[in-house]
Order: sequence, then structure tokens, then C-alpha cells
Amino acid sequence: MPTVLKIVNAALPLRDESRLYSLTAEDGVWTSVEPQEVEAPQVPGRVPIDRWNGEEAEPGRALCLDARGQVALPGLADAHMHLDKAFSLPQVGNVSGTLEEAVNNYASAAPAFTKEELRARIMRSALQAVSCGTTAIRTHLDFHVRHGREVALRTVEAALEVKEELAPYVSIQLFPMLPCYDLTEEAVETAAEALRMGATGVGGAPHISPRPEPEIDRLFALAERMACPVDLHADESDNPNVRTVAHIARRTIEYGWTGKVTVGHLCSLAAMTDKDAGELIGLIAKAGLGAVTLPGANLYLQGRRDRFPVRRGVTRVRELLDAGVTLATASDNIHDPFHPFGKGDLLQIGLITAYAAHMGSPADMRTVLRMMTEHPAAVMGLPDRGIEPGNDADFVLFDASSPEELFAMVPERRWVWRKGRCLKAAGGRAEWKVPALSQRWEDACERISFRKRG
Ligand SMILES: [Zn+2]
Repeated sequence: MPTVLKIVNAALPLRDESRLYSLTAEDGVWTSVEPQEVEAPQVPGRVPIDRWNGEEAEPGRALCLDARGQVALPGLADAHMHLDKAFSLPQVGNVSGTLEEAVNNYASAAPAFTKEELRARIMRSALQAVSCGTTAIRTHLDFHVRHGREVALRTVEAALEVKEELAPYVSIQLFPMLPCYDLTEEAVETAAEALRMGATGVGGAPHISPRPEPEIDRLFALAERMACPVDLHADESDNPNVRTVAHIARRTIEYGWTGKVTVGHLCSLAAMTDKDAGELIGLIAKAGLGAVTLPGANLYLQGRRDRFPVRRGVTRVRELLDAGVTLATASDNIHDPFHPFGKGDLLQIGLITAYAAHMGSPADMRTVLRMMTEHPAAVMGLPDRGIEPGNDADFVLFDASSPEELFAMVPERRWVWRKGRCLKAAGGRAEWKVPALSQRWEDACERISFRKRG
């Protein structure tokens, strides 16, 4: 007997908003997604979602829920996080609030972090994201080969352990960030080892290097050798002349790697003239680069040396979208020297995106929802995440009836599902429905807290 989940009266704003839908999943896979002629009436045995206590159906019986017109989105996908650094702010400060100080302070502190501490941070931040509705994460990982092979690989090991432990609940991709100021042979070989251990692809921030182009070439060579994707921090700078993305795009075209290369940040696009930016965006589109905007961190970090008017630093969201670039929005850092705020909630990040990019029209709000779901899934190479027959039943139900209500209210009440199983029901932090997650969450919060430790 398959395990059956039926949900009626679900709003699917990424599909057709004139109807409500009936959804059925068997053994964690959608088997039918049907528009309803009328709102389904209440019947005995069908539990209104806001009164459902999270109990599974009895064996052999379907679990039937009434979404009462609430919005269901595919499981959110966060294409750019730094799980290993999250919640490190009590240990690593940043007085100036600049990117440079954050990079330097974190790099000096890195050797002192034990694998256990890194593991707890990765666990807490990943679960934090899951609790908000995210079921796919791409995280960059600091990779301080300068401090020795062991320091670099300890972060990768910690991340691999969490990735495996959480595999039933969230897909995690790992991109070690190769150092771009002294990319030694040893660093490249250590990264190759990390990839053999199970890391997903090659990361880095070549715009930090004084000679970025040869370093980008070496990162591409490593990715070719290891047959893996590339995801680079690109041009996180207010300097309009910082344009490493041009070289990344040219190499992507040469290698024929459309769909395999992602660039994050692209802040200098916001600092240059419309003409220069237009040309560069054309090249990004031609190369088929996936792109990620990180508006929370960039609003915080960029423009630090400006006197008024102060630039906002967030990339040209609308122009990139208009050019046909697959642009995701993502969390970046959480409560660390790069960004003191955030909680891994892509809806919050979507709202910040809407503010930063002036995207508040009805059409814009729906585009922002795609930047939290379909676009990052494409960037991450994860097809088939939509609420469609044949796909895994990964989805989030929100206590909101429309995209307008979602962005206005940013509802805390959500029901998060992975493969047809409810991971977290509405309510506060004690509402985990999977005991194993509840225990891990409590342990991680015990270990990693906002309290400053000695
Ligand atoms: Zn980043």
C-alpha cells in the first residue's frame, strides 16, 4: 500500500491563480496536480491545515488536508549560503563593516575553529533554512589552505557529515572556495582531494586577486579535470572597473559550459555606466551563466566608502532578468562578520530583493517567487522541483493566500514538506515533526547561540 497524501484547495501562484488545486502524492512523489472547478467543501476526515497537529494518517489510509486557499510553493532553493561561517559573529567581529575586514578577520580566525564547531554551525544554519521552507542548498565553504591542508579539509569534512546526515531532508551542494591571492599547486591539489571526498564543485572569489584572469583559468582547468561545475563570487566590488565576469563568460563560451557556471554578487555592474553594464550583461546572457544576487549582504557591505549619495551595491536585477539571465536570489551570510542579520529565510530575502530592485508590481512579486524557487533550481542543476506529477513532493505551504500577502506579511506559519513527509508544521521552533531533527536542532542551538562566549 503506498503512503498517500491528498491536499485540496491549494493556491499555486506559479501555475494558475484563477483556480485552486487538488494535489496527490504517493510515496513522496506527486501523482496528480489538478485544477478544481470550485472550492472543495469541508468533509469529515479531511483536516483543515491550520488545525492539523502533524499526525500522519493510520497505515493504509490517505492523509487528507484542506489547504484552505493557502499558497503552496515548491521547496525553496537557496543557491548561495555560507553555512560554515553562519553564527560566527560572536567569535569574529567586523568593526568597519567592510568586506575586506570580514575576509581578513575570518581568515585569521579560521585555524582555531574545530571540526565540531564547524559542524554545529553548518547543522544549525542548514536546519534554520529548512525550517523556513528550503529543501535545497548550495553552500560555499571557506578553504584556508594557507593555514595547511588539515584546516582546509576540516571544513569540507564537517560539511560532508552534515550533508549526509540531512540527506533525507535537504539536498546540500558544497563548493570549497579556492584562495585567489596565492593559488598554489598545493591548494589546487587539496581542492581536487576535497572534490574526490564529495564536494560538488569549484568555488572562489577571483576578483580579490591582483591577477584574476590566470587564476580563473586555473579554476576552470581544475573543474575540467574533475568534471564538476564552477560557482564563483564575481565582482563583489563598488569599483566599476572590476569585471572578472567578462573573463568567466568568455571561458564558459570557449569550454561550452553553459549551465555549468554560476556567478554570484555582480555588484560592480551597479557601479558602472548603463552602456558598459549592458555590454557585460549581454555577454553573461550569451555565455548562459547562472547568476545569483545576494541583496541582504550587499546592501550591508557595499557603498561603505561612499559619502552621500551612497550606492546600494546590489546588482542590476531587472536588467539581468530582462536579458534572459537565470537569476536567483539567495541568503549569503547569516550572523557572521560579513552580514550580522538573516535567518536563512528565502521569503525574507525575496522581500529584500523586491525592495532593493524596486520590484513591487504584481508581475514583479511573482518573478521574485521564481527567483527563490525555479531560478535557483536551474542554477543548481536540479530539474524537476516544481509541483508537477512525477516530481518529489517537496513543497511549502504558507499561511497566506497570495504572493501579495506573502510579501506583506512574511508569515512565520509554514508547513515544510520533503518527499511527501511533513518536516515542520506551523509554529515556533519546537514544532519539528521529525524527532531526529528536533533533537539535532536542540543540540545545535545549545552549541551555537547568540550569547557571546568567552
Ligand atoms: Zn558568498
